[in-house]
Amino acid sequence: MTKKVIVSACLAGLNCRYDGDNKRREDIVEMVKRGEAIPVCPEQLGGLSTPREPAEAVEEKVLTINGRDVTFEYSRGADEAFLITQMSGATEALLKSKSPMCGVGSVYDGSFTGTMKNDDGIFTKLLKKAGIKVTPVD
Ligand code: SF4
Repeated sequence: MTKKVIVSACLAGLNCRYDGDNKRREDIVEMVKRGEAIPVCPEQLGGLSTPREPAEAVEEKVLTINGRDVTFEYSRGADEAFLITQMSGATEALLKSKSPMCGVGSVYDGSFTGTMKNDDGIFTKLLKKAGIKVTPVD
């Protein structure tokens, strides 16, 4: 059986980013085509629309640039994407860097100034806790 890898859907070319765009990477698109990778967008799975306001983690919450609390949607989306991860049997994930959901080791600091802080995205935290190997992709 082919080993499955979870990938951030925006890296696979889906237009699921907050701005309605993607971060397509041809190597990841090829992995999906070969049946090796499963694209997920936890933000969309949490019920957030596309396009949407950018959001960043602020302490225990996730807030949009206009102050809307989207912590529930982020939590729900991470849970749903984690369920897909478990069902697929994936033991690895390639995730979009810096994102408040998919970031690995470094995410925006909540000031909406482009400043980074050392932390993981909400989905990434769930994967790491379950022992899934996560790698950031720019
Ligand atoms: Fe990409 Fe993840 Fe953000 Fe979805 S939640 S747009 S997959 S970085």
